[in-house]
Amino acid sequence: MRVWVDQDLCTGDGLCTDHCPDIFVLLEDGISYVRDVVTGTVVHDPGGRASIVSVPARLGAVVVDAAEACPGECIFLEPDPSGPESGTPN
Ligand code: SF4
Repeated sequence: MRVWVDQDLCTGDGLCTDHCPDIFVLLEDGISYVRDVVTGTVVHDPGGRASIVSVPARLGAVVVDAAEACPGECIFLEPDPSGPESGTPN
């Protein structure tokens, strides 16, 4: 699974960071961005769908919880094309 945030819709309330601070980060602009947990880099430029990161299996449930709780409905989940759910050999 992969995840990205539409910053244009984000209210900055921080519910996502409460659910999963490993992935979601509020930057100085008060808006949520996602972190690549492998590199530790917060991908903020350009943001939106262009800044999409993979979610480790261990964080999948809490990322889904964050998406369901997000009042801006701006957390988007997508299949990971390199993941096992894609059906491609690893
Ligand atoms: S829960 Fe949604 S609206 Fe709130 S800070 Fe996170 S991404 Fe933004």
